[in-house]
Amino acid sequence: MLAKLKTCSNCILNDNITGVKIGTNGVCNYCSDYIPFSPYENNELLRLLKKAKRKRRIYDALVPISGGKDSTYVLYLAVKRYKLNVLTYTFDNGFMSDLAKTNIESSVKTCGVDHVWVKHDLKLINELYRTTLIYSGEICGICGIGIERSMLKISEAWKIPLIILGHSPSESNSFTSENLYDQSRLKAILSKNKSITKEKINRFLIYPKLNFISSYLFTKLGRFGKKVNILYYEDLPSDKEIGEIIKREMNWLDSTHSECTRHFDCLAEPFTNYIREKRFGYSRRLPQLSNMIRNNEMSREEALKIYNDDSKTNIPENYEFIKATLNLTESEIVKIGKISLNEFSYRISLANMIFAKIRRVVKKNEH
Ligand SMILES: [Zn+2]
Repeated sequence: MLAKLKTCSNCILNDNITGVKIGTNGVCNYCSDYIPFSPYENNELLRLLKKAKRKRRIYDALVPISGGKDSTYVLYLAVKRYKLNVLTYTFDNGFMSDLAKTNIESSVKTCGVDHVWVKHDLKLINELYRTTLIYSGEICGICGIGIERSMLKISEAWKIPLIILGHSPSESNSFTSENLYDQSRLKAILSKNKSITKEKINRFLIYPKLNFISSYLFTKLGRFGKKVNILYYEDLPSDKEIGEIIKREMNWLDSTHSECTRHFDCLAEPFTNYIREKRFGYSRRLPQLSNMIRNNEMSREEALKIYNDDSKTNIPENYEFIKATLNLTESEIVKIGKISLNEFSYRISLANMIFAKIRRVVKKNEH
């Protein structure tokens, strides 16, 4: 099977990845369909920000920060460019690097904003990571849902009209092939571990009955802050330029790995990539680096070098630490590496399936 593997001559995606097709000209569908990103109307953003300010709440916007590049840049835009009254917050997933924590402290100080830490019982969080990993192969979902829920809760508690997020258009197709946002699916997975009580799960979920439809309605009604992806309204500087801006303006410190991955703020990132390599034959870095080639941020040779240096046979950084923290044995890790995509997806709630379908139709009509 490996002999047949074709790699795109422009980026580094190969046809072993679901959804990737290499044409007769040797170029993949992502490269041939590539349209350089053009930002949304900036006036639309200004209108949203003005509307939020007119509400005269304690804070105009909530900005989640991780100490990473994108979220620090978002904070810079919100405070220094758009002069918003901002509350920042960080969900401590238990795997934050010291560098990320230092960067959070310095950017909060530089901007003179308030900051809230959200930290669940680490023993419980690690048990949740361990359980989703063992039964579904997924790890990032727990952190994702933790961030999402605490974000909604804080926006509700302080009645903050906007939540400004740092999703980057350059990461829009980074093949996050599965997630655990669906609560019915997550609960089905967690129920495999009898030591985690329902009460504990509900405490972690904050809104144990929330689905995409009710979340959408609560946002419309103003109970939750409205999410805005501010980077979609920007003529986005390159990854390198963003780094330079925040070093200068936010006292942000770079990691030696910053050109390789955007998520160095999380110590578990190399481990999650390793697991994805095992399960799918590629990690998130392959599409990330391919995006960077298409956006002219890196040559194909540079990307190949970075990717090959990080070959899947190597043991990832912090491997023993993650293994010990999550109480995993080597044979459990081997088993996790064999779990196929979307385990328990038959448990996804009807409400979320309907919502996802509607969203796909609306998106199709938008473009
Ligand atoms: Zn390509």
